Amino acid sequence: MKNTATSERMAQEDREFPGDQPDALAQATLPENVSPEVREFLSRTHGHFIDGTWVGEDAEQLIALADPATGLVIARVASGGKAEVDQAVAAARRALENGPWSSMVPAERARILFRLADLIEEYGDQLSQLESLDTGMSRTMMRDIGIRLAADQTRYYAGWVTKINGDAITNSRARATGRDFLTYTVREPVGVIGQIVPWNFPLGITIQKLAPALAAGCTIVLKPAEEAPLSVTYLAGLAAKAGLPSGVLNLVNGYGTTAGAAIAAHPGIDKVAFTGSTDVGKEIIRAATGNLKRVSLELGGKSPVVLLPDADLDQAIPAVARAITFLSGQNCMAGSRLLVHTDIYDQVLDGLVEIMEAMSIGPGFDGAHDIGPLISERQMTRVLAYIDIGMGEGARLITGGRRKTEMPGHFVEPTIFADCNSDMRIVREEIFGPILTVQKFSSDDLDEIAALANEGVFGLSASVWTRDLSKGHLLAGKIKSGQVGINVHAAVDPATPFGGFKQSGWGRESGRDGLEPYLETKAITVHL
Ligand code: NAD
Repeated sequence: MKNTATSERMAQEDREFPGDQPDALAQATLPENVSPEVREFLSRTHGHFIDGTWVGEDAEQLIALADPATGLVIARVASGGKAEVDQAVAAARRALENGPWSSMVPAERARILFRLADLIEEYGDQLSQLESLDTGMSRTMMRDIGIRLAADQTRYYAGWVTKINGDAITNSRARATGRDFLTYTVREPVGVIGQIVPWNFPLGITIQKLAPALAAGCTIVLKPAEEAPLSVTYLAGLAAKAGLPSGVLNLVNGYGTTAGAAIAAHPGIDKVAFTGSTDVGKEIIRAATGNLKRVSLELGGKSPVVLLPDADLDQAIPAVARAITFLSGQNCMAGSRLLVHTDIYDQVLDGLVEIMEAMSIGPGFDGAHDIGPLISERQMTRVLAYIDIGMGEGARLITGGRRKTEMPGHFVEPTIFADCNSDMRIVREEIFGPILTVQKFSSDDLDEIAALANEGVFGLSASVWTRDLSKGHLLAGKIKSGQVGINVHAAVDPATPFGGFKQSGWGRESGRDGLEPYLETKAITVHL
């Protein structure tokens, strides 16, 4: 299915519409409790933020943004391409080499980041509304968890700014040659960074990239996803308000095949940090070879959740349900591949069906539902196609499996396929929807269980559920995955490194590991 992604995207680009189209429809169809500030923001066409100025609002080519809960257009942004990326890179280069950013002392850089964190909280309601309308995610979840995480992550890296130091090296060559050498290292920003982010959790994923890059002293050309750029576009305004000098953060709105591809291939960009699908990640690597820019990738997943026979099922079953329904399964860490010991198999399936069938489905903006819509018609079509594939492969559908046709928008029921096996496409491929596959195992051998969990090309996230913590630790050690939870799934934290083994990515974000890719080390040796 992924091979069709490019042609699907091009079809989407065909739906661009000219800038003079009226937007009365958008305003009329917004939920009642959208605040006046957010209404005003949505009513304006947003361009690109380049060298401290908004440009391109009058562009011919615009991207129409639909509310996933209704399918109706609520806002528009400009569709930039190579020309805008060129301007943004030039601005970022000037700011890196000549602007106040390059000469700013660390304490002042830290102060700007701390200020940005405060503004994220201060404008958290606006950001939550925008992200909820744009992606369909729960507004309350965004306000209560997403905003706090974004602000905490910004503060985490603000704290690092004044602690980025090199080393003094004891140089053995000095003694060997009888000469006095002083060797020390300095840490320098990698340079101009291209950052390309997806539509699921856009604010959080952007901050995960932006905050360490700014802490390191880099300058940035950022491209939000064409499906959900609103909160990230709003954030660019907050960054300017926080005192970030012109040219340090530049934002280009646009499609992946145009603006994104221009960033990945640009000879003036020193590193590209990408979060998105594994297929596009491979395209990024190919595009980056021209100037051998550094590449870090946060890609797809098909994360196993392993239930051992002694698991505390009162805790585990609701957590399994949450792990696949959070963000309607549109989460790279989604626990989409459940592996259950035969002794507890029926009990687990019964418990999951009961919870999933009781979940309420509705617009994320209400903040009252367990499951929101899928981001787009394209994504819904893809998820429904996988349900058909699962049926065709002989997996046993025990709940869900249907689009909520009685509702507007892109709602799909939480779905469970039992009795799956490792050859099935629904088990091997990332679906990115609320579709759980369940496999039974009878072995008590941890190596065999780990081998089952390690099947497939991904290695992003995993969890192990057991009352026997020794077993939990041993199994966690055998699982090839960037993060493993023991009696918890997907516990993200600003200080905890995050990233993937195998085809789930290159490098880590968050924590100290997330800062390193934005720093070069220079060794300086002085003959005294
Ligand atoms: P996607 O790969 O289609 O798009 C991601 C971003 O890349 C978008 O901004 C898009 O415009 C851009 N892009 C698309 N084609 C491009 C190209 N040829 N060159 C440069 N940029 C291009 O992914 P998506 O559908 O937006 O997001 C879903 C995917 O992201 C899933 O596979 C999910 O697992 C993954 N993801 C991973 C993480 C992680 O941290 N590992 C987090 C969130 C999402």
